[in-house]
Amino acid sequence: PEEVRVYEFAEKAGKSVADVIKVLFNLGMMATKNDFLDKETIEILAEEFGLEIKVKDVLEELDYVSAYDAIEDDYLEERPPVITIMGHVDHGKTSLLDFIRHSKIAEREAGGITQHIGAYMIQKDGKKITFIDTPGHEAFTEMRARGTQATDIAIIVVAADDGVKPQTVEAVNHAKNADIPMIVAVNKIDKPDANPDLVKSQMAELGITPSEWGGEYEFVNVSAKTGEGVDELLDTILLQAELMELKANPKREAKAVVIESSLEKGRGPVATVIVKNGTLKVGDHVVCGVAYGRARAIIDDMGKMVKTRTPSEPGMVVGLDKVPPAGEIMIAVKDAETARMYAERRAEYERQKELSKTTKVTLEELSQLV
Ligand code: GDP
Ligand code: MG
Repeated sequence: PEEVRVYEFAEKAGKSVADVIKVLFNLGMMATKNDFLDKETIEILAEEFGLEIKVKDVLEELDYVSAYDAIEDDYLEERPPVITIMGHVDHGKTSLLDFIRHSKIAEREAGGITQHIGAYMIQKDGKKITFIDTPGHEAFTEMRARGTQATDIAIIVVAADDGVKPQTVEAVNHAKNADIPMIVAVNKIDKPDANPDLVKSQMAELGITPSEWGGEYEFVNVSAKTGEGVDELLDTILLQAELMELKANPKREAKAVVIESSLEKGRGPVATVIVKNGTLKVGDHVVCGVAYGRARAIIDDMGKMVKTRTPSEPGMVVGLDKVPPAGEIMIAVKDAETARMYAERRAEYERQKELSKTTKVTLEELSQLV
């Protein structure tokens, strides 16, 4: 990404080369169209051209400008889909997650003992899929608010012997609000009183019309008990993912989302993250909200120490100074000083935000404080 030339920036930014050179000149930089631009300069340019949304949160600021992302196109690679399973209590979310995990993990790593870190990755016909294993719609909504959704596709589980229930509706609304595509898994199909057609009509009433009825949603009949339909569900996920053209740039600094965190004996604060972009490496200095530190170790879903995590891969990061909340963004920065600075600025930002609640300072004014 550092290797971006002036004319490439101009192209991506929709500006003329002359305009870009002029701005650089005004900033005291002599450049020609073939000169390379470093990251700082790209950020400055983006700001000059108003390509950056005015940030109020220092971490969003750190998360690079949109123009920089656009320039990355050439470095983008396909990444696996990240899945969240939602649905009414007792409709089989945990059972389905367990079945998928146990039947497919072997395909990936023979004899491995799984470790619960809040997410796991499987392989289906050589294609990877990440499943978020942690409940909690709150994180889901929170992530949406931050624009850092970890989930690409939601699986709505509905028990075929019970039909649509309040939490089914809730799950559908969550996915709709977060603008996440849905696949419906009609579970417990092995049961004698299973009525998948009833589920379909109830879902259609919610606007989730099955594709076989002319709608845009895939329904798959499954049984988390017998495993029937699970392969088809995975294929449907992979097909949906392909349509979405999920991409990331594994060459840039890591940006990840926290999906689970805790304070562990002997390990201190740990955070399971899913990498959204870039590659997270052991030794990386990271900032994660008001927390910061160095990724001393990264543990995968097989309990193994790993050196790196690429886009969509989950990993438990050890080395933060505090426990970050789920939904927080983790960003790798160049050194410890930068990490500490951003964490402190973030803390200050939060203090100001808290203050503004009582003093009624507008967000607009607040943006000038940070
Ligand atoms: P959750 O609350 O959505 O996580 O549901 P669970 O996975 O805990 O399942 C609730 C109950 O339904 C458990 O007793 C499971 O054994 C049972 N169950 C889940 N899936 C199936 C299925 O496909 N068929 C049958 N017969 N039972 C299931
Ligand atoms: Mg459960």
